[in-house]
Amino acid sequence: MNEKITEIAEKIIAGSLADRSEIEELFSLGESELWDILYWANKIRLKFFGKKINVCSIIPARLGGCTEDCKFCAQSGKYNTSFKKVEHSSDEEILNAARAAKENGVPHFGIVYSGKALSEAELKRLEKLLPIIKNEIGIDVCGGFGIVNYQQLMRLKKAGMSRYNHNLETSRNHFKNIVSTHDYESRIETVKAAKAAGLGLCVGGIFGIGETEADRIDMAFELRQLGADMIPMNFLHPIAGTPLGDMPTMKPLEILRLIALFRFAIPKAGIKIAGGRVLNLRDTQSWAFYAGATSLLSGNYLTTAGRAVEDDVRMLEDLGLEPNVMK
Ligand code: SF4
Repeated sequence: MNEKITEIAEKIIAGSLADRSEIEELFSLGESELWDILYWANKIRLKFFGKKINVCSIIPARLGGCTEDCKFCAQSGKYNTSFKKVEHSSDEEILNAARAAKENGVPHFGIVYSGKALSEAELKRLEKLLPIIKNEIGIDVCGGFGIVNYQQLMRLKKAGMSRYNHNLETSRNHFKNIVSTHDYESRIETVKAAKAAGLGLCVGGIFGIGETEADRIDMAFELRQLGADMIPMNFLHPIAGTPLGDMPTMKPLEILRLIALFRFAIPKAGIKIAGGRVLNLRDTQSWAFYAGATSLLSGNYLTTAGRAVEDDVRMLEDLGLEPNVMK
């Protein structure tokens, strides 16, 4: 067993945080010590989360036709994809999706809008829907509605939203290579506003979009500093028509190593395996939990098909883990 990895892992398990130079050292090992990294990442997960694995599902309530130009995204109206034009889910479609999530035993349900901002009319609609989902259907609601301010977040919280999802996407340094229509700081400000509003923070990003190892380390420390409770890790699913449509997908072992190193860097935040899981990890997807993941997004993703919740629950049970589902 590599002594340096053991020393850093034992320090984390004892309750301290690894400093940046230690995480950089772990990243610098590449895949040479992968199995030791995974072994300890799993130990860290067990220490802080036990065997529980959280399961959530989402509905895209406003899909496509986005004014922004995120180069990885099928929903940008700037690119020639099948999501170029905006589509709205009806109130009934959203409520039915929440009911289906509840029937599947999923304890967290996310409503996600494409686009940069939330209009007053959309905010009013959510103020009508959120209490029904939270109180009548009886499922915990998260929201992702783009760049919003403190007052809007307080209204959403009052209506029943418990957690806000707003991904940083990538590092501050790499962001300008990926998005030109808004800046990184506006994303940080939204995350800080959600925290100030007392909402849980579901904040992560997407990998395999040309970022360097240094970008990944920067992002991990930015997320740690912001106090993210849950870190969704998405892996590029290249979409024809987008500028990253020809990017090669990430290799499974590279992803497992990355999940594990995020577990070392941010030991007490949940790590959710989100978009791109099936395409990128293929048969190794169940290993993500032994690399330190604590949560998964089940069912369909925003623009790509996922796996049935019952298949994911069975996978977790087969692994001896405890899916956090309502039975
Ligand atoms: S990631 Fe969000 S903001 Fe960017 S293009 Fe896609 S929907 Fe729009």
